[in-house]
Amino acid sequence: MKSLRESLVELIRRTSAEIPTDVQQAILKALEAEQQGTIAESAMRIIQKNIELAEKKSQPLCQDTGSALFYVDAPRGLDQGAFEETAREAVRESTRLGYLRQNSVDSLTGANDGTNVGPGSPILHFHQHGAPEVTVRLMLKGGGCENVGAQYSLPIEKLKANRDLDGCRRVILDAVVQAQGKGCGPGVLGVCIGGDRATGYENSKLQLLRTLDDRNPIPELDRLERDILETANQLGIGPMGFGGKTTLLGVKICARNRVPASFFVSISYMCWAFRRQGVRLDDNGSIADWLY
Ligand code: SF4
Repeated sequence: MKSLRESLVELIRRTSAEIPTDVQQAILKALEAEQQGTIAESAMRIIQKNIELAEKKSQPLCQDTGSALFYVDAPRGLDQGAFEETAREAVRESTRLGYLRQNSVDSLTGANDGTNVGPGSPILHFHQHGAPEVTVRLMLKGGGCENVGAQYSLPIEKLKANRDLDGCRRVILDAVVQAQGKGCGPGVLGVCIGGDRATGYENSKLQLLRTLDDRNPIPELDRLERDILETANQLGIGPMGFGGKTTLLGVKICARNRVPASFFVSISYMCWAFRRQGVRLDDNGSIADWLY
């Protein structure tokens, strides 16, 4: 479908070049908080300049345009196969137009065919919902920040992390310490407590679709999110690990049921180049409005 393909290409272009409003606001707030004349302030200023330039020139925010993850919510009856094929065409076209860097390689041979399309690329998640419209959210997740994601299996004696919320807090903060100087901070954490190994990571990434200024409806998790954000920002790691007050821009946590024998805490780390956008489509596949 031509208009769906065009809509997805525009979604990719905008996601690659523009930071969502909530992240932009968090970055500006962080810039104000850093002390003038420090390396942290200058790192935040460079990040802010980069964001302005990318938007003005409609160019990728970072040379690593990352893995493309589509999250599609649709009513019953969506032809998922046709949608997936259109998304693959849109990725091909966006790569040709320079909105995405030629970034996807064959894992066995290292060969890059220059299209960003192959087994497992792009990644699509479909979810059936009761609403009549189709919404598509896109996340472009860079390799540097993906590399510092972590999964902990509690209990962990050396971190004094038991199978409780305090244990979760300990391992999440450990992941922040392990990521220092890597992953292009300040970052945002998406966390899943529980689940199995695969769904733990999957749900931790889903948390990154939440806006930074939303509040967790579960009071214990809301408290944990705020506590970790505040504590991490007192560690002195700072932007890019140069020291300073801004180590994290946000923390988003969910919990999923687990089996009694397992207790995983899965953490996905998103860098400052937090590329996420979303659209609601009309019946023709054209963009009706933007979600972020
Ligand atoms: S981690 Fe993020 S900012 Fe750093 S190189 Fe990768 S995509 Fe770019």
